[in-house]
Amino acid sequence: DKEVIRLDHISKQFNQTPVLKDITAKLHKGEILGFLGPSGAGKTTTIKIITGQLHQTSGEAYILGINSKQIDETIYEQIGIVTDTSGIYDYVSVYQNLEMFAKILEVKKINIEEILKKVDLWEHRQKLASKLSKGQAQRLILARAILHNPRVLFLDEPTSGLDPSTAMEIHKLLKQLKEEGMAIFLTTHNMEEATKLCDYVALLNNGTIVEYGTPE
Ligand code: ADP
Ligand code: ADP
Repeated sequence: DKEVIRLDHISKQFNQTPVLKDITAKLHKGEILGFLGPSGAGKTTTIKIITGQLHQTSGEAYILGINSKQIDETIYEQIGIVTDTSGIYDYVSVYQNLEMFAKILEVKKINIEEILKKVDLWEHRQKLASKLSKGQAQRLILARAILHNPRVLFLDEPTSGLDPSTAMEIHKLLKQLKEEGMAIFLTTHNMEEATKLCDYVALLNNGTIVEYGTPE
């Protein structure tokens, strides 16, 4: 099935305060869906609900055909999540970082060379992670997230804090992953990023989708 994520009338309240109101959206294989909105709009909460880290107040969410309220940790074999808490080990090399994560995640078949080439870090494999530029560090974080070849990738503000040309490198990489069939759910507060990168954009304001459709 090509449907990877489905959100059906999701609402969420934190202590009676509505944070998400009637969110409906879907994402298919090989597509990028962007949740665009200002800080506090409910973007991160949406990712947490889909991935089962938080439960909604009403409505249903599905990921890879499974109800988000019923997923167990085996789902993490099929999804990758990038949030601002990077968790990269500063004082070991780029290559060793991926080796360590492969071990922690118990990824059996892994080709670190292939992944590092994909994210354009192969020539920096010996560098300490602490010596990477911001853009290189973000590509390493992405490499970690795709180590186990997930079917869905969640990216919470993947280019915030990056300069435009570095952000473009990340965009190129995400488009390549999409071409290979990955489904990507990303959040951003940057309108230009959403329109350039995404197949579908949900414009979120105060927990409500005020526009949903193609960037045009
Ligand atoms: P965004 O990712 O768009 O910046 P969030 O989803 O992080 O927005 O937050 C949406 C709203 O929900 C904010 O007003 C935030 O303060 C509130 N919120 C998020 N998490 C919690 C929580 N665990 N308890 C109470 N309020 C929360
Ligand atoms: P399904 O048969 O699974 O319901 P649709 O016919 O709704 O699929 O979707 C057809 C295409 O439109 C897909 O490529 C899908 O990604 C895209 N799409 C899905 N939701 C929307 C939407 N709300 N607005 C515009 N296009 C959408």
